Amino acid sequence: MGSMLRRVIFRLRRYRSKKNEQLAASSQLFIGEVSSEGFTIERLVGNYARQYRWNDLTDVMIDIPKLTLTFFTFKDRSFVVPKANHEGWYKLLHAIPEGYPSFDIKAIHNHLSQMTACKVCGGMAVYERVCRACETPVFSGDRQKARLYYTQKQLEYFAQHAGLAYIDLFADPLDGFSKSPDFEILVTEEEVHAFRAQENLT
Ligand SMILES: [Zn+2]
Repeated sequence: MGSMLRRVIFRLRRYRSKKNEQLAASSQLFIGEVSSEGFTIERLVGNYARQYRWNDLTDVMIDIPKLTLTFFTFKDRSFVVPKANHEGWYKLLHAIPEGYPSFDIKAIHNHLSQMTACKVCGGMAVYERVCRACETPVFSGDRQKARLYYTQKQLEYFAQHAGLAYIDLFADPLDGFSKSPDFEILVTEEEVHAFRAQENLT
């Protein structure tokens, strides 16, 4: 099986496991490839894919309270990319090149600097008590149960996002977030492999 197909299947599995929390499959989109040339927006289920080149976009505006990006094209048209139904929205945000007249880099730096470390993926990505990289909520409740919670969540996270053939516990966080220097790995490769087998993820 090709690695691309495997990635898609993995995404679908990840999506299915979370489907009750998310929007209907038909409206859920994700940011696909992002490069110095541009980016794609794809559908988790179905064959919708649109490609945008940075050079074809004239401006971009961010609304931080709403977490939306509005892109403008040469024809004075615009389209909105809300985080609410675009998985990987921050991957796109991190990749927007400098130089667009209305792109408020300072506001974005300010927003990103308010984020705190996630104890599941290590990303500096926790905003309003949810990690915006791995989508895990911050544990609330009995302190003694916190370690159990984060151990379980790390098993789930590494089982789904680390490499397929081998487990990379030192992988960078998703979506371009920086990694906390204090990140503590609570699981071993063997435990992640065992968890995958148990959950039929391989
Ligand atoms: Zn996280």
